[in-house]
Amino acid sequence: MSSNPNYKAELVGVFGHPVAENPTVVMQEAGFQALGLNWRYLTIEVLPQDLEAAMRGMRAFNMKGINLTIPHKVEVLKYLDEVKPDAALMGAVNTVVRAGDKLVGENTDGKGFMQALTQDAKVNPKGKNVLVLGAGGAARSITVELALAGAHQITIVNRSVDRGKILTELINTKTPVKASFTPWQAGYSLPEDTDILVNATSIGLAPLSHEKPEIDYEAIHTGMLVCDVIPAPMTPFLQEAQRRGAKIVDGLGMLVYQGAIAFKLWTGLDAPVEAMYKALSKAFNIE
Ligand code: NDP
Repeated sequence: MSSNPNYKAELVGVFGHPVAENPTVVMQEAGFQALGLNWRYLTIEVLPQDLEAAMRGMRAFNMKGINLTIPHKVEVLKYLDEVKPDAALMGAVNTVVRAGDKLVGENTDGKGFMQALTQDAKVNPKGKNVLVLGAGGAARSITVELALAGAHQITIVNRSVDRGKILTELINTKTPVKASFTPWQAGYSLPEDTDILVNATSIGLAPLSHEKPEIDYEAIHTGMLVCDVIPAPMTPFLQEAQRRGAKIVDGLGMLVYQGAIAFKLWTGLDAPVEAMYKALSKAFNIE
């Protein structure tokens, strides 16, 4: 036995409500194990009214960081010492990193998407025409990162007009990219010059995993890149796009990458992405 035992694990985790079905623990713990790190990822139920106390608690416990999920991503900004520019632009933080005494807010969702796009699909969004279905949190983080990466123009298509307009206004006023908004109607037909199409809605999420966005799929063609945020290796949306010759990017990769980016922010080490992907796939019953 070592003469200087260290029984203290480093702590990270997630605050959410509800949080029991959040699978992040599986991939982060697989990452820690793969690198032999004595770190733990805790899945913690935090009610909205308890977020301030929870953030004080994570400071007191000297936790290395925390993920935030529904409903805390916006509210948490109040309790941070610093927020990175892209997260500030989105107005949402999904990862807090301890830097000395400071708590720093980051958003890794859109960055995970970008990594899947550039690394797996080998597509650089610079100069591309992008169409995003949805205007919620996922759409917000994706469109901001796409705008910062120099997309040519971004079209946002959303069911609720108010939400769609707010995101469009954000891109138009806070980034150099031109965005436009189209209210979603069933059978919506994409502009012909769309290079990248993203489903950033929750359509296709279990238990409604047989559903796909109601658009005119005739407009999807070879040469288009079609991406889904739904964390699965294949969705009916992606199946339809692939059938029409489009290249596809799934949301499972995005989920692993956003976790891998948080892993690196916390530990300072490159994340063992493959081990994390494998663990998550197993948890999702994907062969
Ligand atoms: P939000 O609730 O913030 O937004 C949901 C979006 O989906 C809104 O634009 C909403 O439109 C739209 N929507 C939902 N149902 C319908 C419908 N029947 N018809 C048309 N539009 C619909 O959720 P998030 O943005 O946080 O999450 C969206 C999805 O992204 C989830 O499935 C989540 O799992 C996934 N996600 C994946 C990540 C990954 O790493 N792969 C990371 C983060 C999220 P409206 O405004 O009209 O309500």
